[in-house]
Amino acid sequence: MSDVSSKNTWRWQLRNRITTIEELSKVVNLTGSELNALSTKSQLKMAITPHFLKLIDKNDSNCPIRKQAVPTRAELNFCENDLFDPCGEEKDTVVYGLVHRYPDRVLLLVTNLCAMYCRHCTRRRLVGQRETSLSQEQLETAYNYIKKNKKVRDVLISGGDPLILCDNKLELILKNLRAIEHVKIVRIGTRVPVVLPQRITPGLIKMLKKYHPLYMSIHFNHPAEISQETKTACKMLADSGIPLGSQTVLLKGINDSPKVMLQLMHGLMEIRVRPYYIYQCDLAPGTSHFRTTIDTGIKIVESLRGYTTGYAVPTYVIDAPGGGGKVPISPDYIISRSKNNIIMKNWKKEIYVYPEQGRKVYSENKQTRSSREEILL
Ligand SMILES: *Cc1c(COP(=O)(O)O)cnc(C)c1O
Ligand code: SF4
Repeated sequence: MSDVSSKNTWRWQLRNRITTIEELSKVVNLTGSELNALSTKSQLKMAITPHFLKLIDKNDSNCPIRKQAVPTRAELNFCENDLFDPCGEEKDTVVYGLVHRYPDRVLLLVTNLCAMYCRHCTRRRLVGQRETSLSQEQLETAYNYIKKNKKVRDVLISGGDPLILCDNKLELILKNLRAIEHVKIVRIGTRVPVVLPQRITPGLIKMLKKYHPLYMSIHFNHPAEISQETKTACKMLADSGIPLGSQTVLLKGINDSPKVMLQLMHGLMEIRVRPYYIYQCDLAPGTSHFRTTIDTGIKIVESLRGYTTGYAVPTYVIDAPGGGGKVPISPDYIISRSKNNIIMKNWKKEIYVYPEQGRKVYSENKQTRSSREEILL
């Protein structure tokens, strides 16, 4: 009984995305700033799925969902800190589409396409620009690199959004990666369960299940993104045994308050998505209006730790400009350390001491000294 024109199919959702100012102005009461950005050729393409459009407040330009989907004039402003390749991925690109930065895992960017284009996208230099996915030949080159590098035990498939590919293409990628014996786990990074939940079909689930252990990181930024359709999609994924994690970008005016973040983390826990990372907003061109201070991020983590389930506290990271990788930024719980104890503060900012006997602060043997101790010396 499947009706191909039904709004419940993902292909219908993709075909009916809003991509022009004419279409958008019919359904959303646009501000001058939005009209201005849409009529100027802004940097990143616009595409809004009917599903995501449903979540947008049509009359309020302050709506946190709207700000992620509809460009504003601010996006045309470039600031001196902006970087074309904010996380330095180009320098760690070993073969086209494959980024190898850490010892045991690689990032495979399989496509430049996304279901919806996020206004804060960090890979806007690629995403939505040339609309392409890796060719069979480019994929083969990537598999060969991974085959030769026996230390790679984890492949993170990202993009763009890998779940924009059809089941067959995606399966071919998973099959090829699984055929490499030293690849122990495969991860998919996606925003599809949020912006195109209809893509999570029984057929996709059946296929994905064959490639366990498979993990999924889902990009969620606001509690209002947890729609009924997204809940269903996450239920199907979780029921199929895929451990789900979330990645959240800290965005000014969207989720930069402890209250919104707590709501988001609780909402995610309820749909079996374990909060994984909160990212400090990268330095992608035209996104400076989304950046918060680092203190904002630290305060958010402080407001979660101890106040709610430990599982609901993600790691706040800065992806270091220039290619340093993810650096965890944590509230400082250590007040001081000495030879015999550590003085620390707990979640309520009360002071506690843990006596630490036999800490070799003054050890002469360099080999037994931890790097932390060296710094303290
Ligand atoms: C984020 C990232 C990974 C994965 O990092 P995890 O901390 O293991 O999730 C791998 N490679 C690159 C280049 C990345 O940016
Ligand atoms: S889904 Fe990810 S890659 Fe795609 S536009 Fe949004 S942030 Fe960029």
